[in-house]
Amino acid sequence: MRSCEVLIVGGGPAGASAAWKLRRAGRDVLVLDQARFPRLKLCAGWITPEVVRDLQIDIAAYPHRFLTFERMHLHFKGLHLPVRCVQHSIRRLEFDAWLLERSGAPVLQHSVRSIREDGGGYVLDDQFRARFLIGAGGTRCPVYRTLFRELNPRATELQTVTLEHELEYDWRDPNCHLWFFEHGLPGYAWYVPKQNGWLNIGIGGMAERIKASGRSIHEHWARLTAKLDRDLVRGAHYEPAGYSYYLRGRVEVVRRGNAFIAGDAAGLATRDMAEGIGPAVRSGLAAAEAIVSGAEYRLGAVTGASFGGGMASRLLDWAMTRGAVRDAA
Ligand SMILES: Cc1cc2nc3c(=O)[nH]c(=O)nc-3n(C[C@H](O)[C@H](O)[C@H](O)COP(=O)(O)OP(=O)(O)OC[C@H]3O[C@@H](n4cnc5c(N)ncnc54)[C@H](O)[C@@H]3O)c2cc1C
Repeated sequence: MRSCEVLIVGGGPAGASAAWKLRRAGRDVLVLDQARFPRLKLCAGWITPEVVRDLQIDIAAYPHRFLTFERMHLHFKGLHLPVRCVQHSIRRLEFDAWLLERSGAPVLQHSVRSIREDGGGYVLDDQFRARFLIGAGGTRCPVYRTLFRELNPRATELQTVTLEHELEYDWRDPNCHLWFFEHGLPGYAWYVPKQNGWLNIGIGGMAERIKASGRSIHEHWARLTAKLDRDLVRGAHYEPAGYSYYLRGRVEVVRRGNAFIAGDAAGLATRDMAEGIGPAVRSGLAAAEAIVSGAEYRLGAVTGASFGGGMASRLLDWAMTRGAVRDAA
C-alpha cells in the first residue's frame, strides 16, 4: 500500500492546480490519472487572463503555443459584433502536461475504480491510502460518483454536448469567432486559432434541448463546417469527436470529511459561456488552500459567469439554460 497525505484523482487543470499549490506548501501529494500525459483533452483551449493570473503564468516563459486575441468576433443571427479583448488560446495537449509537470507532484498512471473511507482517510483500489482526497477526475470522476453523487445530483438540463476538431491549419484570421444560437442551436460554435498554424473548430449546446429540437449536434456541425468552408477555413478535413460536461447548477456539497471535488467533477463550467478551465483552476486552488490553511472550501470565488454576471451575461445564461436550477450558494 502506497501512502501519502493528499491523493488527487485527475491531473487536468483542477488537479494540477491543487497539486501545484499543495507542493508549494511542502505537502506530500500524489496525482493519479488514468491517462498518460501529454494526453488528448477535447477543448477549444480558450483561457482567460484570470487563469493566467491565478496560476501565475509568465507568458513569455511558457514553452508552448500561446496566442493572445485582440478581438472576439461575436455573431448572432447575421449580426457581427467585433469586441476588443485580451483573451488567450493554448493547446490542451501541451498546457495540461506543462501544468502538471510544473506542479512538481509525482504522477502515476492509474485508473481509479474503488474508493473507501478508512479510519478518517481514504483507500483507493486497495493500493493507495491518504488522509485527504481531491476528486478532480472530470465529468466521470470516481470520487464524485462514490462520495458526492447522492448529495449533489447533476441536473440533466445543465448537461452540454460538444463536437470539435483541432487541426493543423494555416489560418489567416488570428482572432476568435463565436456564432451564437444559429439554426436554433441552444449554444454556440467557435473558431479558435492557436499559435503557429493550429486551429480548433467546435460546437456545443445544451444536450436535452438539442435532442428535443429533433436536430442532432452532427447536423449543426455539418452546417458550421459548410459555412466555414465558404470563407474562414477552406478545404479542411474534419474528424470531430464529442464530449459532455455540466454547467454550474446547485452544487451544495464540495467537501465531505477530508474529501473534496473540484472542476468538472463538481460541474462548475460557467452558465453563460460553458467555460470550464477557469473554474477548474480556481476550485482546485481553493481545495488545496483548505488543506493547507484549514480555510473553509467554498465556491464563492469560483465564477459562474464568464462575462461577469451583468446584463449580457444573464441574457446568455438564460438563452443557454432557460433559467435551470441555480447554485444555492
Ligand atoms: C469540446 C469542448 C470545448 C471546451 N472548450 C473550453 C474552452 O475553450 N475554455 C474553457 O475554459 N473550457 C472549455 N471546455 C471545458 C473544459 O475543457 C473543462 O471544463 C476542463 O477541462 C475541466 O478541467 P478538470 O481538471 O476539471 O477536468 P479534466 O480536464 O477533464 O481532467 C480530468 C482528468 O481526470 C482523469 N480521470 C478521469 N477519470 C479517472 C479515473 N477513474 N482515474 C484516474 N484519472 C481519471 C482524466 O484522464 C483527466 O486527465 C470545453 C470542453 C469541451 C468538451
